[in-house]
Amino acid sequence: MKKRIAILGSTGSIGIQALEVIESHQDLFEVEVLTANHNSELLIKQALIYNPNSVVIADESKYSEVKEALIKTDIKVFAGEKSIAQIVESDTIDIVLTAMVGFSGLIPTINAIKSSKIIALANKETLVVAGELITKLAIENKSIIIPVDSEHSAIFQCISGEYNNKIEKIYLTASGGPFLEKDYEFIKNAKKSEALKHPNWNMGNKITIDSATMMNKGLEAIEAKWLFSLKPEQIDVVIHPQSIIHSMVQFEDGSIKAQMGLPDMKLPIQYALSYPTRLKSDFKRLDFANYPMFTFMQPDTKKFRNLALAFEALKTGGNMPCIMNAANEIVVNAYLNNQLGFYEMSDIIESVMEKSTFIQKPSLDDYILTDNLSRKLTLSLIESK
Ligand code: MN
Repeated sequence: MKKRIAILGSTGSIGIQALEVIESHQDLFEVEVLTANHNSELLIKQALIYNPNSVVIADESKYSEVKEALIKTDIKVFAGEKSIAQIVESDTIDIVLTAMVGFSGLIPTINAIKSSKIIALANKETLVVAGELITKLAIENKSIIIPVDSEHSAIFQCISGEYNNKIEKIYLTASGGPFLEKDYEFIKNAKKSEALKHPNWNMGNKITIDSATMMNKGLEAIEAKWLFSLKPEQIDVVIHPQSIIHSMVQFEDGSIKAQMGLPDMKLPIQYALSYPTRLKSDFKRLDFANYPMFTFMQPDTKKFRNLALAFEALKTGGNMPCIMNAANEIVVNAYLNNQLGFYEMSDIIESVMEKSTFIQKPSLDDYILTDNLSRKLTLSLIESK
């Protein structure tokens, strides 16, 4: 039996690479559903190649364009965010790959969990915003969450087979991004074109800016807390500019396991889809001769203030990560639109975290309201600056 896969966010970087993985293992996987936010053109192209049962375009104004382009096929076409949230419940889906960006992933992921699907989780914001709720629902509904994020996939691979052996701590590795060697003044004035030049990974714009600010590593620390039931003090970030060690786990006897490989998201995507089996691949192999040195250093939280803010949110808990995430999504967008300087992103996130209402035990409605209010507050701070 082939595993039938729904890809939420198929036109993004992870979605495109997931389709490449599926294409090279057509005997094992088939595409059941594809969804996209705005990119109707690529969604249509993908639908014609992979022939899914259904496609959904979130942007309702693009519905007729997609519908007409697929009129001669038997592919069902839907539009709107509500349709994405509904379609994941379909009986014909085995695995839901959540590869959309930001808070928009929350409700579809919740619905997929409630329908007991296997979740290949690439949308880290879902766990950042509502990790407590998501992990609880996953246990109740016997839904397995398999991380796609390379660091979390690394940890997941390291603990595979360790059964009841406890994690003492984890080391999330970080490349340090394009500004690792730059000084404060340079970073302060850095344009988005420089922030978008990631040294090792080829990713979407939002996550590339998050890597430049190191907010990405902060979000990943929160993601790891929920995926692996860790306390904040069990999570450490170490800069490893070569991006060959994708993360490490230290066990209670002091032994450390690392997962290594060339930086290529196709590997964690494939592992999430085929888990617990490893599939033969033709991904480029690591040649140690090209990496005579692995280096490590502590992150500088004076230069990368967002990392410190994220650890503060991690320790505070409640709706604080949700507040921070919403503010971050808005400021990254503003930075990409040249409305903010690099450190103004941190200034505004910090101020939104100070000014928002803290809730220790939020409900789903609290998260939705928090997200909404935090976005509004962030926008007003950007306007009034
Ligand atoms: Mn990552």
